Amino acid sequence: MYCTSCGTELKETSKYCPKCGVEIYRDNKNESIKSILLMIMGFFLPIVGFILYLVWKEKRPVKANSTKWGSMLGMVFRLVIIIWVILMLIIFREPIERTIIDKSTPTVEEKFYDKYGDSM
Ligand SMILES: [Zn+2]
Repeated sequence: MYCTSCGTELKETSKYCPKCGVEIYRDNKNESIKSILLMIMGFFLPIVGFILYLVWKEKRPVKANSTKWGSMLGMVFRLVIIIWVILMLIIFREPIERTIIDKSTPTVEEKFYDKYGDSM
C-alpha cells in the first residue's frame, strides 16, 4: 500500500504516512459515509465546516475536502435564498409603496407608453 498524497510505501498497520503525515484510509466504505456526513454537516453549519477545513486541510485532506464542499454548497444555497428573498421584497414592495406614498408617479410601463404611444 502506498500513500495517496506522496506515494511513500506504507506499513500495513500505519495510520498516518511517516513521510508527509497524511491520514491513511483502509475502510473506504466507512470513510465515504463519514465524508457524506461531513458534507451534510458543512451544508447546515458552513462556519463549523470552514473551521474544520482549516484545521484538517494539512493532515486530513480528504475530510477537509468533504467539509469544504459541504460548506460551499451550504453557503451558495443560503446566498441563493437571500437573493431570492431580496428580489421578492423588491418586486412586491414597489406596488404597495406606490399606492401609499405617491400615486401620481408613473410606472416604467406608463412612461414608455407616453413616449412611444401605440406605435409599438
Ligand atoms: Zn505521504
